[in-house]
Amino acid sequence: MSHCGDDDGGFDSLIKFLGAVGAGYLGYRIFKHIDDQRRLEAEAIEQARVAAEHAAQVERIKHFAETLLMRAAAVLFIPPPALILTIDTPTAATDGNAIFVNPVWLQILLNTHCNDKLCAYSVVLGIVAHELAHRIYDFNPGSGDHPHTRELRADYVAGQVIRALQVPEAHFAKVLVEISSVETETHPLYSERIRALRRGYEDAIPPPMPGAHPAHEPSPRAT
Ligand SMILES: [Zn+2]
Repeated sequence: MSHCGDDDGGFDSLIKFLGAVGAGYLGYRIFKHIDDQRRLEAEAIEQARVAAEHAAQVERIKHFAETLLMRAAAVLFIPPPALILTIDTPTAATDGNAIFVNPVWLQILLNTHCNDKLCAYSVVLGIVAHELAHRIYDFNPGSGDHPHTRELRADYVAGQVIRALQVPEAHFAKVLVEISSVETETHPLYSERIRALRRGYEDAIPPPMPGAHPAHEPSPRAT
């Protein structure tokens, strides 16, 4: 009986070789795993950063709109109602109590139309004052005005409030062109709406309101 020393040596080499391949493969898997982990972690961090940035942006919009809602309510001599940001409302609305604003819609509107603080003031004031007017006039029992009458009255009030707070109405007027580019059953054409807005603006007497100048107010990111 003789051992096949050479064969054994070959077998050992093969085992060593396979061991090395196995170790290499294992190493590759481990590094790949670490790499995947790092990539997933980086993705999770990025997602969290985007979510935090989005939340901060919504918070800024909310603060800005709430500030202007308070100002508008003061002009109209009513206590400011709650402002609720929700994507369940396509644009802005009121149920007779709270004012609802879609923050995504508002952000897009500001990004599209505004390059400065004064423009953002005009647009957001116009929106919240318009909704406040609906809240004041259109939720009384027996208030059976034609929807167009309601809209034009709300735009007229928006013009008054915008003037009272010494903000230009032109930016809100530009937004009306976009949001009422066609007449619907509920909303008149932008030309009528702008006429009502300007009438309100001209009829209002801007009272001296120290501290009410837009330059002192926070603003949303509207670049
Ligand atoms: Zn309306």
